[in-house]
Amino acid sequence: MNRSVPTAIVAASPGVEPAPPGLSGLSPEVLATWLRERGEPSYRARQVNEAVFGGSVSSIEEIATLPGALRHDLASAFRFDTLEETDLRITDGGLTEKALHTLADGALIESVLMHYPARRGARERHTLCISSQAGCAVGCPFCATGELGFGRDLQTAEIVDQVRHASRRLIGAGRRLTNIVFMGMGEPLLNLDRVLGAIEALNDAHRFGLGARHITVSTSGVVPGIRRLTALGPQFTLAVSLHAARDPLRDVLVPLNRRWPIAEVVAAARDHARATGRRISYEVTMISGVNDTDLDAGAMADLLHGDHAHVNLIPMNPVAHTPWTASPMPVIERFAATLEAAGIQTTIRRNRGQEVGAACGQLAAERAGEPPVPAVARRRSRLIAESAAALLGERSHEPAPAGVGD
Ligand code: SF4
Repeated sequence: MNRSVPTAIVAASPGVEPAPPGLSGLSPEVLATWLRERGEPSYRARQVNEAVFGGSVSSIEEIATLPGALRHDLASAFRFDTLEETDLRITDGGLTEKALHTLADGALIESVLMHYPARRGARERHTLCISSQAGCAVGCPFCATGELGFGRDLQTAEIVDQVRHASRRLIGAGRRLTNIVFMGMGEPLLNLDRVLGAIEALNDAHRFGLGARHITVSTSGVVPGIRRLTALGPQFTLAVSLHAARDPLRDVLVPLNRRWPIAEVVAAARDHARATGRRISYEVTMISGVNDTDLDAGAMADLLHGDHAHVNLIPMNPVAHTPWTASPMPVIERFAATLEAAGIQTTIRRNRGQEVGAACGQLAAERAGEPPVPAVARRRSRLIAESAAALLGERSHEPAPAGVGD
């Protein structure tokens, strides 16, 4: 985690002035040092954090508990908010809210707020799915973010501010955020220092104050990142985007599998479950005729049999430029039955907000515009050929994506 006093930390695109750091991303040590250097008493840090995370003011100028000179200095050095809400689309009868945010350098990221009404004795939940990078280097071919490619890592404040935005909307409606999942744009464990800084702020009782058990970090299988998370100790939930239990197929669906194959990923996840006592959540996007076969269900049952794990089966969201579609529900139910027969807890999830493009990266992809038709045709035929070869058990000869596991 970066403990140094920041100056201007948001990387700017060429020709764009670097923006000052966001207040919500400052560690307590950095904020305390900055205040001390200005001769301010230590309780000012609490006042700043109450204003940043309390949701009752929307600018540094409005923080009435601080003297005017300090407000002026804070506003010169930091930003109260690092995101602009560019688009907000509501669907599923109000149960899903998809936000597109513009960052200071023009990069676009997304967050999705999902409401789950109370039922069968369980309280209502409001879960926010947030982004950790603008774009993604991993390049999963069923994912709209993967199509966009990698833009840049998000700063800690840009991650935390997605939560502050959603929380403000919820507070306005008399509700509060109950869960946060790092399953939006990007691979969180490839931006781990900033993600850990954000988790620290979200978990800290003096800042956002959400319990560790309500925070889920998802990964497509960055093994050193999983091991680092495990070594830290707190009981965050780990979710692994598995998608396939056979290496030849996972090489195609999650290209970093060529760097860290299934056995290494699952071994790291098992160690995490043992160390934290937390059940591992495995996510499987169900793609018709690609990873939903009896062969794949059997391989997954063999792989996870006896583990402290839960599998979520999610029908693929429609993504432009892939030749694939979601598995039909009877096929998903058959897959789930195979896992359950092996004693593996399995849930079939509904995908949220299809009509507003709720899969991560779809709004940003919409803004990026259409790629050239020949490129799309080449991509489609390559995926058809690769998934057919994977069914025959052939491993990919392609290298892992650039920037992954260097
Ligand atoms: S599914 Fe996740 S890891 Fe894969 S390309 Fe999309 S954002 Fe990246």
